[in-house]
Amino acid sequence: MTTATLAVAVGGRGVVDPSEPVLRADDEALLRGRAAFETLRVYSGRPFRLAEHLERLAGSADRIGLPAVNRLELEDLAAQALEASGAPDAVLRLFWTPTPTSLALVSELPDHLEALRTRGQRLISLRGVRADEPWLLPGVKSTSYAVNMAAEAEAKRGGADDAVFVDSVGTVLEGPTTNVWWRRGETLLTPALELGILAGVTRAVVIELAGSLGYEVAEGVYPLSRLSEAEEAFTTSSVREVMPVVELDEAGLGRGPAADELQAALRREATLPL
Ligand code: PLP
Repeated sequence: MTTATLAVAVGGRGVVDPSEPVLRADDEALLRGRAAFETLRVYSGRPFRLAEHLERLAGSADRIGLPAVNRLELEDLAAQALEASGAPDAVLRLFWTPTPTSLALVSELPDHLEALRTRGQRLISLRGVRADEPWLLPGVKSTSYAVNMAAEAEAKRGGADDAVFVDSVGTVLEGPTTNVWWRRGETLLTPALELGILAGVTRAVVIELAGSLGYEVAEGVYPLSRLSEAEEAFTTSSVREVMPVVELDEAGLGRGPAADELQAALRREATLPL
């Protein structure tokens, strides 16, 4: 869901009115969805793991064949847009297009997230297109997200909240905008990056935090049945953070402690005093 835009800053121009045009009509970001982007969460005015997101943006840009990302400019635009927004807690999006144009966009946090965290999400499995082939851009976050948004819409049409992609033989991949996790005993399982899924920044934070909470992490190649037999499941992403799953393909999944513990640990990490 797209929420209200609070502020926009553009390379070479600085902060602009959000209703102003910012792209050339012949920018391939628009013509072909060929641009790189990042979405981060901002906590008390601080974008969480900005360096990691800029690193991934640079990698995506390289894989799509864009000019090298100007990280300093994007950091500066992010700071300008955040200041102009006046919002301490928000969503920050960074874009890097072929012309090249750099953009920072600050928008409101979706207001339904905490209610969804309390209720838990219903997921449906859908066939996805991620794979290790280089032309399918494994691990790249490009602006060609129409398929991901269509999958979310399909999940909602089916009475669920979101989708989980599986490949042609039923291997669990990721969600349209999330990484997928589940727990068996003290082990947290999640699909391996070798499957071509996005290396989520939140996924990496969960891997970092799991040990201190008494969990082991097993990244692997798992059939969907492993997820449906889990003791609990959750998704991770920068905006939605750790979000419990209570249903997969209309079958109930139990709630457990790991999702709540990881959510609390993620919040602590994101709001640590400097
Ligand atoms: N997988 C996909 C396809 C995504 O689009 C996203 C985020 O938008 C994620 C996983 C989660 O990544 P992150 O934790 O960096 O937000």
